[in-house]
Amino acid sequence: MDIFDVAVIGAGPAGIMAAKYAAKAGACTILLEEHAGAGWPVQCAGLLGREAMAESELPLGSFLLRGMLGATVLSPSRARLDFKAKVPKAWVVDRRLFDQALLRRALQEGADLLLCASVRQIRREKEASVLCLAGGEEISAKIVISAEGVSARLARRAGIAPPQMILSGAQVQVPFAVEDPEKVEVHLGPAPGLFAWVIPLDESSARIGLCARDHGCKHLRSFLKKDIIAKRLQGSPVALNVGGLPLGPPPATAVAGLLAVGDAAGQVKPTSGGGIYPGLVAAKIAGGVAAAAAMEGDSSVERLMEYDRLWRAALGRELEIGMRVNRMLGKMSDAELDALVGYLAGKPRLIKAIEEHGDIDRPSRLMARMLRHLDWDAIRLARLLGYALG
Ligand SMILES: Cc1cc2nc3c(=O)[nH]c(=O)nc-3n(C[C@H](O)[C@H](O)[C@H](O)COP(=O)(O)OP(=O)(O)OC[C@H]3O[C@@H](n4cnc5c(N)ncnc54)[C@H](O)[C@@H]3O)c2cc1C
Repeated sequence: MDIFDVAVIGAGPAGIMAAKYAAKAGACTILLEEHAGAGWPVQCAGLLGREAMAESELPLGSFLLRGMLGATVLSPSRARLDFKAKVPKAWVVDRRLFDQALLRRALQEGADLLLCASVRQIRREKEASVLCLAGGEEISAKIVISAEGVSARLARRAGIAPPQMILSGAQVQVPFAVEDPEKVEVHLGPAPGLFAWVIPLDESSARIGLCARDHGCKHLRSFLKKDIIAKRLQGSPVALNVGGLPLGPPPATAVAGLLAVGDAAGQVKPTSGGGIYPGLVAAKIAGGVAAAAAMEGDSSVERLMEYDRLWRAALGRELEIGMRVNRMLGKMSDAELDALVGYLAGKPRLIKAIEEHGDIDRPSRLMARMLRHLDWDAIRLARLLGYALG
């Protein structure tokens, strides 16, 4: 049986980055992926903010489709807020090429990769874990990192609790009359859960999707029939992506012998459903802690909880604020959403602050800045932001 310091289950962005950092720290590391390659099937809109791009440690490369300078936010009654910065605030990427570029870097750091390797079961034995693969093969590792994505079957069985909620995401790629290829459209209110998006790929095609509390596909079908979208559709969808988005991490993301990272640990921004940025940040910490613990020969929960403490110090407050914003938006009526968007649209200084400091990876920074720009008739907005920021 092959014996490793660290075994990472799942070659999504979080698993790949965890394997890279474990190998970089000197641990003998293997990355196991059930599919025949990384980055497939795609369950993602592929919108990455500046911080996510920096955390990927990749030079801007062929996986980049285009930069996004701003957004149009539309309320249910079509009040609209427009902002556009001078430099890209985010990038649209080809997720398959992005994941493969990440993978090449992890392999360069010395991680081993086993494809078509579906881990069916983890058996805990004394100081190590035995991973049983679908083909009958077994692999032994001192520390296991579960980066299985939202299903997190093995992490749950090992004792990692589920996230607070799982949203239902659905998206089509479709020929579409794009209004501004440098701006994302954010539509508030089409379904309880989060928002709908239109992400341009060029002047005549876009990724259109939404996250709902349930039945994402059903809500997306209704959204595509809305006048504001339907009249701009220029053909049938060429791709459909569906998947769950876990929000609200469980109380502990480590048990004896195993850490959970990325979607498996509910590390997703509740303000946007984006999981790549928090997953990459936490994965680096997971890789480092797993490598150190393996080399010390200590796979106890007490040792591995260092990972839990460190990632919460880096991301915990941002995710908590995001959950409050998510709940707050979920409670607002269509009329309140109209009023909020209408209010913001009439405040040039606030729009300038959004253009200068908007950051989809760390939205609390912009929210804190927005507080500085309030005038007396902004008390309602202050109350909302105050509630969200705690
Ligand atoms: C519709 C939609 C749109 C989204 N848009 C965005 C966006 O624009 N920006 C953003 O940042 N995030 C977005 N997300 C979220 C993002 O896709 C995820 O947060 C991210 O992919 C999570 O990365 P991960 O590495 O944790 O898991 P995943 O990317 O899900 O990778 C998990 C991997 O583990 C493998 N695996 C699972 N079980 C096993 C096993 N037992 N054995 C071996 N391998 C296994 C899987 O095959 C998979 O390759 C979106 C999600 C959805 C559903």
